Amino acid sequence: MAGAVPESEELRRNGLTLGVALAAIALLVLTGLQVIPPLVAGLLGEDEAPDQLLVSAMLLNIALVLFGWRRLSMLRAEVVHSRAAAATARELAETDALTGCLNRRSIHRAAQDLLRKAQARQQVLAIAMLDLDNFKHVNDLHSHQAGDVLLRTAAERLRHHLPPEALLARVGGDEFVCITAFDPQNPEPIERLAAIWIEQVGQKIAWNGIELEASVSVGLSRSDDGDADVETMLHKADIAMFHAKRQGRNQIAWFSLTMENELRFRSALETGMRRGIIQGEFVPYYEKQIDLASGELVGFEMLARWLSPTLGKIGPDIFIPIAEEIGAIADLSEAVIRQALRDAQQWDPGLTLAVNISPVQLRDPWFAQKLLKMLVETNFPPHRLEIEITESNLHENIGLVRTMITSLKNQGIRVSLDDFGTGYSSLAQLRSLPFDRIKIDRSFITNLPESSENQAIVRSIISLGQGLGMPVTAEGVETEAVLAALANFQGLKAQGYLYGHPEPADATLDALRELHLTLDRTDVDTPPLDTGKHFRAA
Ligand code: C2E
Ligand code: MG
Ligand code: MG
Repeated sequence: MAGAVPESEELRRNGLTLGVALAAIALLVLTGLQVIPPLVAGLLGEDEAPDQLLVSAMLLNIALVLFGWRRLSMLRAEVVHSRAAAATARELAETDALTGCLNRRSIHRAAQDLLRKAQARQQVLAIAMLDLDNFKHVNDLHSHQAGDVLLRTAAERLRHHLPPEALLARVGGDEFVCITAFDPQNPEPIERLAAIWIEQVGQKIAWNGIELEASVSVGLSRSDDGDADVETMLHKADIAMFHAKRQGRNQIAWFSLTMENELRFRSALETGMRRGIIQGEFVPYYEKQIDLASGELVGFEMLARWLSPTLGKIGPDIFIPIAEEIGAIADLSEAVIRQALRDAQQWDPGLTLAVNISPVQLRDPWFAQKLLKMLVETNFPPHRLEIEITESNLHENIGLVRTMITSLKNQGIRVSLDDFGTGYSSLAQLRSLPFDRIKIDRSFITNLPESSENQAIVRSIISLGQGLGMPVTAEGVETEAVLAALANFQGLKAQGYLYGHPEPADATLDALRELHLTLDRTDVDTPPLDTGKHFRAA
């Protein structure tokens, strides 16, 4: 670093100057002893003046002593300056320029020191990993300046509530680490502190006429839980923080071994899924949809399954959220929809195909185009396709959903509102979104015969659907009793385990063959779909 003198060089120069000065003083004493007495006697006229050469030597020694003295004080000033420069440079290298906290590089050594001190006092260390939950959102939406303000304010708020001796570091874009000692018998103050951090960091920040807001998730690990090694503790706190985030953010979690196992399982799942998508392990299953008035099979809903070679058959409730998180949902969904369009080509052209889409696809402005491309490639008529949008996903961006529904409908594709009754849509929202169908969530259907409340709800949804021109499907019909209860209502479609569980493409095709509802049917005399042939529950 500029301006700083290495210590060995500093010692060498000091030694040299000191040596010269000491030699000059010794010589001064020697020459002084020889010169001063005769000089004094000469001045008093008692003796002859001393030798001119000795006087010059003495004067030279005086000059040398003065020079050495001056040089020594200059060197000392230089050393003080260079030490200050070194300290500044060290501080700069150890702190985060934006927030003034310690940085990732320096936290390890500082934590080691704190750990030693804590152990000497029979205390343990708690490491808290804090991650801002929606930092990226603020950065993307309001610029990096806003992101910087958020980080600086979060650091100030954390610092304000830091116990004495505790350490605060910024270890990643939006990740902070707080390390403090505590009594192992009483971890409660740490939890209280974490709760204060969550509360404080979550306070809104007024900036340039807008309000910035971020919540924080906190993962905690302690030095008496397994290895008291700082690196391991940081890793554990990180796992706990990840867990806190998954629990719904704005939460505190202490590390536990199960979390680590979960994380390993999760990471194996992710790797397996990425490979499975490429290898075609995600396949469509089909659930029958029945028109209750005629008893006819009218179509199928495609439900994706993962046939994992190591884990077996996995349902969408497990893999869809992961696929969304790891950014694989579009590829996965495209693969199963494309396959479903091919499978359905072999069915009777009167049968419809319904597919579900995730909120991530709902936000994709190119989704309608991609779908159209698949329809063209597989030569599948758009009017046979129905897209299901789950009600709880509507609120994400109502404008976007409306645009999406409109462009799908413009292509002749129908759109239905899935799991209705669970997402709290307002009537105004429903009226403004041109759905073709409402699917009542199975939670209202399963105990329909016993629940007069659910009967009233189903009745209201049906009349709401009639008012809005949206026919209704009942999901989750499991028993004859439910079917009988549904007979009290008009114009319904139904689906559920009563008609059989979702089945793979080949089993579905076999079942259709038996019903003479495939394109490869040989019996040309088969009556057309809606001539009263009733589908019987399996
Ligand atoms: P959903 O669209 O509401 O699908 C109905 C779910 O209820 C299916 O679960 C189905 O197997 C189940 N089910 C059907 N009848 C009955 C019944 O009588 N009783 C009971 N207890 N359950 C019944 P599954 O296949 O596990 O799918 C769960 C959800 O995953 C689906 O709910 C859908 O929202 C989503 N999903 C399925 N496939 C895909 C896909 O390819 N892409 C996307 N984005 N989501 C999908
Ligand atoms: Mg559905
Ligand atoms: Mg549903």
